[in-house]
Amino acid sequence: MSDNTALTEHDIVHALCAPDAASLYSAARALADDVFGRQVFLRGVVEFANHCRRNCLYCGLRAANTDVERFRLDDEEILHAVSFAAAHGMGTVVLQSGEEAQGDVRRVGALVREIKRRHNVAVTLSLGDYAEDHYRYWRDCGADRYLLKVETTDDALHARMRPGTTVTERLARVETLQRLGYETGSGVISGLPGMTPRILARDILRLSAMGLEMIAVGPFIPHPGTPLGAERAAVDIEQALRATALLRLLNPGANIPATSALDSACPPQDSGTQYPVSDTRLNNQDSAHSPYGKGGREQGLAAGANVVMPSVTPERVRRNYAIYPGKNTVQCSVTEAVRQLKLRLEHAGYQPSDAIGASLSGRFRAADPM
Ligand code: SAM
Ligand code: SF4
Repeated sequence: MSDNTALTEHDIVHALCAPDAASLYSAARALADDVFGRQVFLRGVVEFANHCRRNCLYCGLRAANTDVERFRLDDEEILHAVSFAAAHGMGTVVLQSGEEAQGDVRRVGALVREIKRRHNVAVTLSLGDYAEDHYRYWRDCGADRYLLKVETTDDALHARMRPGTTVTERLARVETLQRLGYETGSGVISGLPGMTPRILARDILRLSAMGLEMIAVGPFIPHPGTPLGAERAAVDIEQALRATALLRLLNPGANIPATSALDSACPPQDSGTQYPVSDTRLNNQDSAHSPYGKGGREQGLAAGANVVMPSVTPERVRRNYAIYPGKNTVQCSVTEAVRQLKLRLEHAGYQPSDAIGASLSGRFRAADPM
């Protein structure tokens, strides 16, 4: 794996399925160390509403799930959560929600302006599918980044998982965001039912060809209130970690999070695992290079990630942002959860960074002879 940019689909499938991934993880972490050092950027996520018009098969917030207690935070609550993030050393705040049927575009714009007026933070939006005019409006209001995961680039799988939408539309939106000057993030859910290693390999290659500033892989975690809820067999955290490492090798300067889904699937040891982790290879990981034995976030960082995205959603509602089991279920206060996360990072040898943490992808593109 000396020339990472030359990785083929075959190489990637092999790396996803090989009996051992120790050298993959150590190569990805070494590259992350070269580019970002040991600093880890913190992004505080304000999950400000869980109403959604969509019916993504995998997501607990889908419109058809009537068991969800729906909420919308008011402006004051949102700004309070943002102040908390800024005061606790988070250089970026992410405003995230379900996809509202009648999204209040003006209100989001006003919030972005107010956040930028009050704080020296980058603002990321993660609100789903909107018209180009709306994305442009939010950018004009000062939004810096947008996160729109394609989930999978496989046409048939995407259409099945996200009824009423297509990959072509989703990718076109990602391109629109890039054209509008957002630092743009996308990503996939690994291990979706029907996703083969070959599909995931193609997703990895496709995402890596898009010139993204941020790329995320979260393992699929079945939610009992969805049509995929019966898929309780296992969460394949191993595959998500390998995909994270491969994305690092292919995208040296991109911001790559150790996703919250990794931590939900594999909480730090003392909090008890909530879901069975599928891969029997996990039991064999005792090499010095193995990221196992720690929480999912530490494992993601050991596989080359450089970002963590803790929820700073108010305690009153955070449990109701139940995308998948284990999400936002920590018993302690937001303040305590953030304190513990920073301690975990330090304990694992990283430095929580309060920097805005722009992507370094451009540096590598500029150096690219092509
Ligand atoms: N509604 C917006 C959208 O879909 O782009 C943003 C919020 S959505 C809840 C954020 C992300 O949650 C999705 O992009 C998807 O990758 C992830 N997600 C939803 N359900 C999941 C599940 N069961 N397992 C893993 N990730 C999941
Ligand atoms: Fe809605 Fe996003 Fe969940 Fe799909 S993934 S149901 S768009 S919140």
